Amino acid sequence: MMNKKIEEFRGIGDKKKKAFNKIGVYSSFDAIKYFPATYMDMRKPIDIIKAKDYIDSDILIRGKVKSIRKSGGYGSTKKLLTVYVCDDTGGINIRFFHASYLIGNLEKGCEYYFFGKVLSNGKQVSINHPQIIDEKKYEPKIEPVYNLPKGLNQSDMRSVINEILPMEINEILPNVLMEKNRLMPYGRALREMHYPCDRESYKAARYRFLYQELFFLQMAIEKVKTNDNKGFFIDESDSEFVEKLGFSLTAGQKKAICDIDKDFKSGKQMNRLLQGDVGSGKTAVAAISLYKAIKAGYQGSLMAPTEILAAQHYSYLKPIFQSLGMKCALLTGKLKANEKRRILKEISSGKVDAILGTHAIIQENVSFKNLGLVITDEQHRFGVNQRIKMSNKGIYPHILVMSATPIPRTLSVILYGDLSISTIDMLPKGRKSIISKRASAKDRENIYMLLRDEIKGGRQGYIVAPLIEESEKLEHVKSVSELKCEIEKMYEHEEIQSAVIHGGMKSEEKEQIMTDFLNKKIDVLISTVVIEVGINVPNATFMVIENAERFGLAQLHQLRGRIGRGQHQSYCFFISDSKGEIARNRLRIMEESSDGFYIAEKDLEMRGPGEIFGTRQHGIPDKTVLTAIRHIELFNKIKEDTAKYKNELTDEGKRYLTSFIREQNMLSL
Ligand code: ADP
Ligand code: MG
Repeated sequence: MMNKKIEEFRGIGDKKKKAFNKIGVYSSFDAIKYFPATYMDMRKPIDIIKAKDYIDSDILIRGKVKSIRKSGGYGSTKKLLTVYVCDDTGGINIRFFHASYLIGNLEKGCEYYFFGKVLSNGKQVSINHPQIIDEKKYEPKIEPVYNLPKGLNQSDMRSVINEILPMEINEILPNVLMEKNRLMPYGRALREMHYPCDRESYKAARYRFLYQELFFLQMAIEKVKTNDNKGFFIDESDSEFVEKLGFSLTAGQKKAICDIDKDFKSGKQMNRLLQGDVGSGKTAVAAISLYKAIKAGYQGSLMAPTEILAAQHYSYLKPIFQSLGMKCALLTGKLKANEKRRILKEISSGKVDAILGTHAIIQENVSFKNLGLVITDEQHRFGVNQRIKMSNKGIYPHILVMSATPIPRTLSVILYGDLSISTIDMLPKGRKSIISKRASAKDRENIYMLLRDEIKGGRQGYIVAPLIEESEKLEHVKSVSELKCEIEKMYEHEEIQSAVIHGGMKSEEKEQIMTDFLNKKIDVLISTVVIEVGINVPNATFMVIENAERFGLAQLHQLRGRIGRGQHQSYCFFISDSKGEIARNRLRIMEESSDGFYIAEKDLEMRGPGEIFGTRQHGIPDKTVLTAIRHIELFNKIKEDTAKYKNELTDEGKRYLTSFIREQNMLSL
């Protein structure tokens, strides 16, 4: 099929083009994959007497107009047109509001088809504002109905689709699989999705698309997993570095380092996901890996999703690297131009060994002297492979992606068979588990009194709210500014310092506050979710999460991970007055468990369609993954098919796969 831009279709001007773009339709390829939300079954009219069996659904009737009545009168706002229509079985009222212009279209004594929703007022059924089809123009067919944004109507979409459908559409699945599984050909299946002939063939088409989706998911996983890129050889001992850390590594950390060492020595590019619960000590693993890469003569970089985190990594790691004669630089988007220029120069000349920063590292045109390892910390996927400027032709830097939002085990086995994933499934020794409690608003005062004692004992903590400012729309939702006032009032007679931090603040301001918090100048940090990721203040022992029902399990888990990082007992309170069952269950899970994997599994169980715990962050498409989970048997069967026939992909299929991977923004693991 020729790919044609959407604006090249007849009747598609700038406005409609924009509306199409809104739903992700830029070309004929996109349009044809935009399936109808529902259909109008106009194959056969229903006897009017049976209309009452179809309340709230759309039906087609055919009948003669017996009377046309106008009510509401001159000047009234409710101009109503009531048309009484009969067939051999009975009659029904059809009503139009503000539509006197229709009088000209309808003639008493003539027959028409009407398509619309049957409504009931308890006594009588009627149809309001149906589509009117002239008897001569009627064709028995099923019409697609699309979910469309403002500015597009059904006929715009239909005419685009009708222009595409007659084109020749090449098959994208391998022929052997088409035959083996008796799948409907691509072109026909597409036609069937837009204009189904009947139930049977529609079902066959849907099955084909299910098969296709899972097939390409599996192919995509295979493709991004098996990467034959060459990688740098690194084989170094880390004892000197570990000594500087001041603690001995946990068995989980050692295992992860061992996995990474194997990759380093494999001659191939590493593409590894390191997952470990919050506080499990991923930073140490990252730092050790950086150290080894640098010792082997390469540069290494560690990217964090926020400026605060990048700064935190920098201030923690710089002294250690420096004491070992390695040079560290901090590269963020906020640097002054001349400073940035200097640092960029040092990076390209190889003067700097460890580059810490935000994704500015790959966004700017940074050229490295010899980048050997790229680590990304927490949630963000950077598409590193594509975007890093490669200075060594054909050899790629090793890649380590770290995340505290675990992929549920069931999922990772489906997707990866546990390949290329290292998991730290323990916390450093001596950590006390966090005491977690659900609470309602009436407990608030008690909780804050309890925390006062904690603060007096020298501890610090966080209070988290969903909003920055009070909102008129969300009346019972707390904001940080509101909480700041409440806290000040509550601790009026105490020497307690509180401060607000949120995402809308300037980064210098945020950094200053975090530094003050770390240096104990601030006791209570009132925050939005900006503290969610990675912040490490071991003296913080309490957290109050207001309107806890408004956060997802993944977020709650991440938030709570900010405490329980030192030797003191920590407490987390989830305040919520939500009566909703789902919300209550979620908070119960948080109260019961602090195991990220358990929480992830529960989340997966509890959620219907929607975002699964963490998969989005890992770059795995949620919707497709959910489909895979729902059809796990088929998916496993397809896995076998893919393994056998992956080389049978036609050029058309390969192109499809490439765009599938791009569209799904898949993790390069
Ligand atoms: P995360 O995996 O959430 O990124 P961090 O790397 O921030 O966790 O580590 C959390 C805290 O635990 C830090 O204060 C770190 O210094 C400490 N830590 C890491 N590994 C160990 C260990 N093996 N023994 C004791 N403390 C450790
Ligand atoms: Mg971390």
